[in-house]
Amino acid sequence: MDEVERLPWTSQRELDDASFRYQLAYLLAHSPFYRGKLAGHDTTGGLDTIATLPLTEKSELKATCSDENPFGDHLCVAPDELVRVYSTSGTTGTPSFIPLTASDLDNWVTGSARSYAASGLGAGDRVVTTYNAGPFVAGAALDAFSRIGVCHVPIGTGSSERLLLAIDKLRPDAVVLTPSYAEYLLELGDLRSSTVRRVLVAGEPGGGEPAFRAKLQAGWGASVTEAMGIGDIGPSLFGECEQQLGMHLGARGLVHIELIDPDTGAARELSDGATGELVLTHLRHRAAPLLRFRTRDHVRIWTEPCACGRTAPRMRCVGRTDDMLIVRGVNVFPAAVREVVSGFTPDVSGRIVLRPTAPGVKQEPPLPVTVELPPEATPDPALADAIRARLRDVLVVQTAVELVPWGSLQRSDYKSSLVERGRTS
Ligand SMILES: [Zn+2]
Repeated sequence: MDEVERLPWTSQRELDDASFRYQLAYLLAHSPFYRGKLAGHDTTGGLDTIATLPLTEKSELKATCSDENPFGDHLCVAPDELVRVYSTSGTTGTPSFIPLTASDLDNWVTGSARSYAASGLGAGDRVVTTYNAGPFVAGAALDAFSRIGVCHVPIGTGSSERLLLAIDKLRPDAVVLTPSYAEYLLELGDLRSSTVRRVLVAGEPGGGEPAFRAKLQAGWGASVTEAMGIGDIGPSLFGECEQQLGMHLGARGLVHIELIDPDTGAARELSDGATGELVLTHLRHRAAPLLRFRTRDHVRIWTEPCACGRTAPRMRCVGRTDDMLIVRGVNVFPAAVREVVSGFTPDVSGRIVLRPTAPGVKQEPPLPVTVELPPEATPDPALADAIRARLRDVLVVQTAVELVPWGSLQRSDYKSSLVERGRTS
């Protein structure tokens, strides 16, 4: 482990405060976007007063992009200082371009390498990856495997047969994939007998939910740990250690984390167990640094010491604002519904789909939930009743549970959608 990862958090905070002050002065000097946005704000208070500064929304950045400046008005460097340009995958609208200087790219690889090393990857390990990461920010995470010194076998998505063949013939120690794909592969082959002892999941929430994780771990005969990045900020910023108690901030010293109330934007204390929307600030970025960027990810934070020795706070993503439904005032995340339903394994397959009846976020109860049964099971009204009762007790939401046969819901070798609109079944 990099010794900096054991540095007491109070010492890290002092270093980050100095980095932040420098970053803020840099933004004011080089970014027309932030010069305008910060006009009239006191920018002298360091990290202690960061919550008095305005939040940055993705839409604001996009609004400043033009044919002349495809990166937006927050670009801080001359074009010839850029060494790479990634795209965000554009899950919510058109893609954005993410420019990097050489030092930005190096910092990204540093943070990612720490995150993956936290999960137990080390020099000499053989690792199969399944990301078609080419133009996307996750591509930089692949550089992290070289930094760690593993033997990297990029397989990509699109052919599960090729992936299973690689696992069989090349005998990897670890695989990297989305939790949806890790689940799907369990239907295609006997993975318990494979050499894989570490399954590293990323790309969507869910890999850290206890029931879903237990299913993956049992099926693969391997430990499951999570990693998570944010397209506009960096890849694999967070990585879970072998204690499996949330993802440590691997990008410590490079990125500052905050929590806010997602409805009011008010800052929330970063105390052990706190929840809220994750807000991230670059500390040492050069090309297009972001200040208080709203990630739209709802997370839980832990700050108590971890047995692995890493002092960085830990985090688990509960869900994204974009996926959230509000049923009579109650926030419902699809991944949380899946987690409750997975508690009925082996009487359910673990696959679910929410089918909201109204357009938009707000829904009237009951919320239709389709639950897939395991192979050869037939629908039992008592099971549907039990699932409905537990969803009501745990998530405080009224649902209408429909049980469907094995194989009814879609499988994916990338991310799986837990929400389907346009049908009311
Ligand atoms: Zn740890």
